[in-house]
Amino acid sequence: MSELSMVVDRLTMTTPQMVRTSAGPVVVRVAPLLEVLQGMVHHRTAGAGGRSSSSSGSGAPLDMEALNLMVSVEEELVHLQWVMRSAHPPARAEMQAAADLFRVPFAVVAGPPAPGFGGMTVFERLRWTAVRAAALGRDAEVLAIVRGWVSAIERRMDPPIVIQPRKPCPACGEHMAWTMDPSLDELVQVPAISVVVGDRPRGWCIECGAEWVGPEVVDLVTQCGGSTELARNLLGR
Ligand SMILES: [Zn+2]
Repeated sequence: MSELSMVVDRLTMTTPQMVRTSAGPVVVRVAPLLEVLQGMVHHRTAGAGGRSSSSSGSGAPLDMEALNLMVSVEEELVHLQWVMRSAHPPARAEMQAAADLFRVPFAVVAGPPAPGFGGMTVFERLRWTAVRAAALGRDAEVLAIVRGWVSAIERRMDPPIVIQPRKPCPACGEHMAWTMDPSLDELVQVPAISVVVGDRPRGWCIECGAEWVGPEVVDLVTQCGGSTELARNLLGR
């Protein structure tokens, strides 16, 4: 992992993130931040949960601040791509190593992209640019820009509503798990199971990777010591 690959993962993949709650730290899964931002533009809930998702559907007004952020992200990405595409192509070995680091097929980054990057999603374009930058040893130029996207999106996100079950994971039997706290830079104990409620309720065990979605979350919360009523209320049923 490099710092750039971690930031690009946060923007383009679901990643585990530590959240502080009144009952202590928990680790939840956060949706790709670029997807979260797209959801904000249309007032949809995305990510680890969020409370502001009231309106949705074709008649919903756009969130203009989120839209402006999305537009500037796309403009900055176009510029970064242009810079990296214009540079002298990196050597094959460097390109292969960078493609592996970002889990992008070598063929995707080896050749020139289609004119204007047509047909590529924002996610694919960001990965293409990051691979080229890493292969050229120019991580810092991309990092300086994409770090700003992460903090701008995070500032706009509602904190997730998390339930911490009192009983162990029904799948693996573990109650607690150790995880690295990035702000303290040390290992801390967190509940193995975390349940994030909202429009898309989701339960997850960081120890064994078991996942519960939708109505299964009600079962999980009851199995883990919460009342069925609590679970149904929190899930808005
Ligand atoms: Zn488990």
